[in-house]
Formats: sequence, C-alpha cells, structure tokens
Amino acid sequence: MEGEIITIGSELISGRTLDFNAWYAAGRLTASGLRVTRITSVGDDFDAVSEALTRALAASRFVIVTGGLGATEDDMTSEIVARALDRPLCLDKEMFSLLKSYTEDRGIRMTPSLEKMAWMPDGSRMLNPEGRACGFALTQEGVRLYFLPGVPDQMRYLMDKYVIPELLDVYSTLPVIRQRVLKVFGLNEPGIAELFRGLKGEIGDVVLGFYPRFPENHVTLSLRGADEDSVSAELDRVEKNIRALLGAHVFGSENDTMAGVVGEALLEKGFTLGLAESCTGGLIGHLVTETAGSSRYYRGGVMAYSDEVKATLLGVSRTTLERDGAVSEATIKEMAQGVRRLLDVDLAVAVSGIAGPGGGTEAKPVGTVHLGLSVAGETLAGRYRFWGTREQVKRQTAYMALDWVRRYLHGDPFLPGS
Ligand code: AMP
Ligand code: MG
Repeated sequence: MEGEIITIGSELISGRTLDFNAWYAAGRLTASGLRVTRITSVGDDFDAVSEALTRALAASRFVIVTGGLGATEDDMTSEIVARALDRPLCLDKEMFSLLKSYTEDRGIRMTPSLEKMAWMPDGSRMLNPEGRACGFALTQEGVRLYFLPGVPDQMRYLMDKYVIPELLDVYSTLPVIRQRVLKVFGLNEPGIAELFRGLKGEIGDVVLGFYPRFPENHVTLSLRGADEDSVSAELDRVEKNIRALLGAHVFGSENDTMAGVVGEALLEKGFTLGLAESCTGGLIGHLVTETAGSSRYYRGGVMAYSDEVKATLLGVSRTTLERDGAVSEATIKEMAQGVRRLLDVDLAVAVSGIAGPGGGTEAKPVGTVHLGLSVAGETLAGRYRFWGTREQVKRQTAYMALDWVRRYLHGDPFLPGS
C-alpha cells in the first residue's frame, strides 16, 4: 500500500534542522511493509502546504504530515487543512479540556494561542487522548491523513502508538507484524555489515534494519506473516543466527539499556559498584542512576577531575602522576584501586582521558582514554582511542566503562583498545 510523507517547517528547508521526522516515519513505514513513494518538505507557507496536500491526496492512499501543530503564529497546519479540504475548524472538546487541565496544573493562563491547538478541521479524530503529544487523523476521499506534531519525540510516539498499527490494520494482507531489536555496542555499521555478509540466504523474509543510536547500534528484525506462532518461530530462528554472528557485542534487546543490563549483572553476582570519573565528569554515574533501583548496587563515585583530587581522595601517588601523567595506565590502576578502597565496593571502574578539543599531544592525542577495573585481587587496565567531538568522546568512554563491567561479569573478553 502506497503513501507519502509531508514535513512542514521553514527550518527544514532552510537547512537549520535536519528532517528527522521524514527519516523516522519513512523507516517505520517501510519496516512495516508500507511503501513510501514520496517525501515532501515545505516551509510554513500556506500555498506550499496546500499544494503538497492536494497533490498527495490525489496520488496516495495514506499521507503522514508532521509539523505546524504548535501554538505559535507559524503553526497553521489545521487552518490550511480546513481550507484546502473544506472542513471548517471546530473546537475539539477533549483536546480543550486536556489543554485546560494542562494550564491549571501549571498555574498558567489559557491563551488564545494555546486554545488554537484545540481547533481541528471538521471530522478530525484526535490521536492520543491521554495527552503528552497530540495529533489528529481524518479520512478524505478514502485517503487516510495523519497530522502529527513537529517535535520529534512526540511525532515518534504517535507514529508508533497509533499510525503504524492503524495503517497495518487497514491495509495489511498479512496481519501479524513483529519486530525485534538487538542493541549492539562496539561495532559500527560497516562492522556489522561485514559480519552479515552471506547472511541473505539464511534470513528468509525477515527484513533487517540498522539504526545507529550513538554510541549504540540497533539491529531490527521485522517479519510479517499470517499468524503469531509462525512469525515468532521464524524470528526466533533468525535472531539466533544473528546473535551468533554478533556475539557479546549484543548487550541487550527491546527496551534494555546498557546501564540497566550492567545493573542486572551486578545484582546477579551480588556486587557493588563504585566509580572514579575524570574525563566523563559524572556521566557514567548519571547513566547508572537512570535505572530505577540502582541504589541496590551503585555506592557512588568520585569525580576526580584534577590531579589534586586523584591524589588526595583516591590516593594516586604523586610520583605516578608526575612520571606518567593523569592519562596513563599506572594512574588509572591506582584510581580504580583507590576508589574501591575508599567506597568499599566489590568492583570499581576508573576512567581518565583527553576529551578535547584541546589538550592532546603526539603521544596522547585527543580521544586517548584509559580505563581501569578493580576487583579483589585483580586490577585490569586498557587504553582506547576514541574519535569525535568532546561529547562523543565522553559518551564512548562512559559506554566502554559500562561495557567493561558487563563483559567482566559475564566472563566475556573486553573490546580491544588501541
Ligand atoms: P512544530 O510542530 O512545527 O511547531 O515543530 C516544533 C519543533 O519541532 C520545531 O521547532 C523543530 O525544532 C522540530 N521539528 C519540526 N519538524 C521537524 C522535522 N521534520 N524534523 C526534525 N525536527 C522537527
Ligand atoms: Mg513549525
């Protein structure tokens, strides 16, 4: 079944904002077996939007429109639809009461621009009456039209929760579609592609998708079929093959997070965790504590950013610091041991590196990171060279630290460093 996507926003055609919505919607539709024949981006311009809409109506069975649903002046999707499709704007009572409780909860005034969001073209059906993100749908001359917010998170939520299931319901001849996600760390897309060479013949009708979510890479397996049992069995078979190829690079699936998986492994072993963070400035601790219940295994960490704190708090010897520097194997080992003693934990991880953009030398270029892991009777260390911006180096470091814990506890080898 064929359809198209229209993304609205002047920021999209001026190059200020990358068109995430088109990318996401197209990916999800395609993975669901619904063919996208055209993506159109238009500015916040009455005529341009009308024209795109009218054209799409004549050519497609479904149209996904994003953007222009907000409260500001330039958000006029509803008005445009009202005029282009000759459906006068009506006040949606459900939406109005949602907005009303929204304003009351926050103690703010209901303004005309907010109220505007409750006016929808005649015959529209509100998507997501629970609030959080709102859009609407209508059917015109047999074509299903979906109007979603421009904010990527909200668009994504409505797309997954309403649009895809509804379209599959209406247009699918193979009613069951299931998707699985495998989350990978330590392999980039070309690396995954290399492992998957020759896999084509073994995966049957399963469609593979690749979604980089830096620094993770997600591999999706989608399959449509006549019934739940046959789809599940076939997905099980292919997932097994794929897991065998990816090995310990797969850290989780579906809603797993790296930190959550690490937490489970720590709980299973009854281990407590402590951190000594230099270049990540607390990012590892932040990731760990994003998991509810992390207090059961996470004792805390020391942000040992300066040499002074490394020496006084963690007990790194000043001789080591002067001789080898803060970014070195000797220092990282002492940091890991020091924080393990200080916080009295079973397992401690330390990181120290040069996040950039300045501060690199020939011997220790930007992106050089040392990692240490200390448990009773054993301290391990490794050196990595990460690439990218300061933020990317920090994120890769934090993930690698968590991956070390995961691999250590599972008995898998660490990813090789530089
Ligand atoms: P709007 O619903 O048009 O008010 O959009 C709200 C915000 O979402 C805009 O300010 C953009 O930052 C963002 N946005 C809108 N459309 C897109 C898009 N296609 N891709 C990525 N971001 C978008
Ligand atoms: Mg806009």
